[in-house]
Amino acid sequence: MIFKLTEEQEAVKRMVKSFAEKELAPYVDEWEEKEIFPREAFKKIAELGLFGMTCPEEYGGTNMGFLTSAIIYEELGKTYRAMSYVSINNLVCFLIYKNGNEEQRKRWVMPLAKGDLFGGFALTEPNAGSDAAAIQTSAEKRGDDYVLNGSKIFISAGGEADVYTVVAKTDKEKGASGASIFVVEKGTPGFSFGKIEKKMGMCSYPTRELIFDDCIVSKEHLLGDEGKGFKMIMEALDGGRINIGAISVGLAQAALDKALSYSKERVQFGKAISEFQGIQFMLADMATEIEAARLLVYKAAYMKDQGLKVTKEAAMAKRFATDVAMKVTTDAVQILGGYGYMKDYTVERYMREAKVGQIVEGTNQIQRVVIARELLK
Ligand SMILES: Cc1cc2nc3c(=O)[nH]c(=O)nc-3n(C[C@H](O)[C@H](O)[C@H](O)COP(=O)(O)OP(=O)(O)OC[C@H]3O[C@@H](n4cnc5c(N)ncnc54)[C@H](O)[C@@H]3O)c2cc1C
Repeated sequence: MIFKLTEEQEAVKRMVKSFAEKELAPYVDEWEEKEIFPREAFKKIAELGLFGMTCPEEYGGTNMGFLTSAIIYEELGKTYRAMSYVSINNLVCFLIYKNGNEEQRKRWVMPLAKGDLFGGFALTEPNAGSDAAAIQTSAEKRGDDYVLNGSKIFISAGGEADVYTVVAKTDKEKGASGASIFVVEKGTPGFSFGKIEKKMGMCSYPTRELIFDDCIVSKEHLLGDEGKGFKMIMEALDGGRINIGAISVGLAQAALDKALSYSKERVQFGKAISEFQGIQFMLADMATEIEAARLLVYKAAYMKDQGLKVTKEAAMAKRFATDVAMKVTTDAVQILGGYGYMKDYTVERYMREAKVGQIVEGTNQIQRVVIARELLK
């Protein structure tokens, strides 16, 4: 067991760190304040090869694998939590690459990996969140076409993305085994966008309703076979959960770094607050928990790169890392005292951004359901 990054991984880490410092950090506050989706910044990220990290080069990807991707997500997460959109684009790319036919791969994977198209993933509905098998959006077969009806909510980059992998029931009588995945392009008649949500954080990143009203797509838009949608999603989500864990490790590390430097500068009772044991113990716990989260994330990513089943490990990594990010960012606000609560000091943004990690790609309660199910098999 070697706890050391390869030279290549170190180089990629440095490259992403330098990119994030120059191209993201100076603008994040403005994007968040004015709710600007930073399309150009994402295009630059695609140019670095980070939009198709788990797809082969012949389809425009960089095939870096999950461990190197995790290191990259960690670096991005240190600067800007909304970089989780990179993970969604990668998830869409992976879904189509893994389950699509040659024509579908050429049509969508290549431009998604290159950043010529942006992807969205649409599963959640008003009455089906954690209970995803209860979705009601239908895809009725009519000749060589499918007719989609229903709505999706909380879709990341809704309206900004050009191509959506939409989960719909091809057999309404069945639960999970009645679901299929369709690739639906923005501009398709019958496909429109509804309300943009007002959120607690990540405001530069639209979260929006998708509406399907007799939206007709040809059978060339169906991924794989009818009824296999959930199997495909579960495989893709294992990777997505590792990515969310990695972003959360980066976010927590950024909060710790701010708390550490502040604690050395802030003087109360005639000494730096870092000299108080009460503060030292908080810093020590924060650092220890971040390290544990990082190891869980790296282990799940490493195993996935070896082709092993990681459903349990990915759920553990996501659950633990996002809970650690919530705790560490909250403690960072505490260490900065009243200043921590003010927008000028960034840690309040970290705290708001950490919360979403505990909810998306399966809430942390659902991760526990997954872990327990795997344990009890
Ligand atoms: C910012 C943001 C971006 C998102 N982006 C996307 C996206 O791009 N695509 C997409 O499809 N979805 C997206 N979502 C939706 C997200 O995946 C869901 O919000 C999430 O799966 C939870 O579903 P829900 O909100 O309906 O909560 P519910 O399922 O209603 O859960 C409510 C509470 O009950 C708990 N609960 C539910 N079932 C159980 C159980 N069996 N045991 C114990 N506790 C349980 C949950 O953990 C939660 O605490 C996004 C959400 C947010 C906030």
